[in-house]
Amino acid sequence: MDPSMWIDVTSERFNYSLNHFVIPRHYENDLENILIPNGLIMDRIEALAQLIVQDTDGPIVACCVLKGGHQFFADLMNQMKKWITKSRKHIPLSLEFIKVKSYVNDRSTGDVQISLTEDELKDLEGKHLLIVEDIIDTGNTMVRLLKHLEQYSPASVRVASLLLKKTPLSCGYIPDYVGFAIPDAFVVGYALDYNEHFRDLDHICVINETGKTKYAI
Ligand code: 5GP
Repeated sequence: MDPSMWIDVTSERFNYSLNHFVIPRHYENDLENILIPNGLIMDRIEALAQLIVQDTDGPIVACCVLKGGHQFFADLMNQMKKWITKSRKHIPLSLEFIKVKSYVNDRSTGDVQISLTEDELKDLEGKHLLIVEDIIDTGNTMVRLLKHLEQYSPASVRVASLLLKKTPLSCGYIPDYVGFAIPDAFVVGYALDYNEHFRDLDHICVINETGKTKYAI
């Protein structure tokens, strides 16, 4: 995907005030602003799904990167099923779930833990994989995950990430499909967490210092 096709929400005008949309009461004091309202996320996912289906000509194994990617994965799969049916292409979808953890508070630990059994990994041999991730920040997690998966000889691997953070710490990794390019801030909501909090928030928001302190471990 050409970078001109990403939606760039790094400019100031994309920050919505908290009272423009509905926020759960328990998070009202913990957020700086709304970066991407839920409706915009859903519309963007429909466009990504259409693009992925256009680029696909056979069976794929869609791999959800847990936990943060689960909401994006569920919504993307629904849209892809819709576009597969509309296009009348033969694209059977099977699903796989990979749990990856690398963050404590708002910092990467540098240590990436990947949970897939040896049998599950061997099943990926010869398959066309679509890895579905919530966010690429430095890119280190995805680079490590891809290296790990390569050992099991998939036929091809594509990556769809809802968000790509514009950060000087980036290792240069760019996914095949990107929903939104976002500023270098810690975001929560739409299943993205801060120490397991905020997954139940529908919009993608920037956490504030009160929220970071309240939920720090
Ligand atoms: P990376 O290895 O690319 O720096 O980080 C990838 C992982 O870190 C993501 O899958 C996500 O779990 C976590 N992460 C990075 N930036 C953010 C952020 O702004 N918000 C949240 N909630 N998680 C993030």
